[in-house]
Amino acid sequence: MASYKAKQIARIKDAVLAARTALRESGDFDPLRFAKVYVAHEGVQLPGRVDDDAERERVGQALLRALRLQSGGGQDPDVARELHRIEQEVDWLRYACQDDVVAFRAQLGPQAEKEPACQALVKEGNGLGPGLYGKYDVIVLRPECSDCRFVPVHQHELEW
Ligand SMILES: [Zn+2]
Repeated sequence: MASYKAKQIARIKDAVLAARTALRESGDFDPLRFAKVYVAHEGVQLPGRVDDDAERERVGQALLRALRLQSGGGQDPDVARELHRIEQEVDWLRYACQDDVVAFRAQLGPQAEKEPACQALVKEGNGLGPGLYGKYDVIVLRPECSDCRFVPVHQHELEW
């Protein structure tokens, strides 16, 4: 599977940050509200394809429809990937807004156990320790990643 280009990862991060800001200000953690801001900021990216705006638009609209109808992503891998991202990001934000949550720990699902890129996620980290990520970071999962999760880490769980 193609990877995201650096420019695409930057777009996704910017869109996630914009959506986090919008939800934090609104005080609710509604996935549809998150997705609307995320789509408006061009967060939907097709792995390795930077110029296919029509397809990005289609995936973005399908994502919003799936959230509105709570119908799941169906068979479309691009929509399913974005749905997974939105669910993860809203969970992340809900926990990150709690003062005693200081980081997140990457957890692998059954599919992720077979993906080297996913295994790297639990070995790496951003200075807090293996598999640990700061709560203000935006982690853009690889396109092939379908079931990695992040669980909140509380202040008292970290050994300094
Ligand atoms: Zn993964």
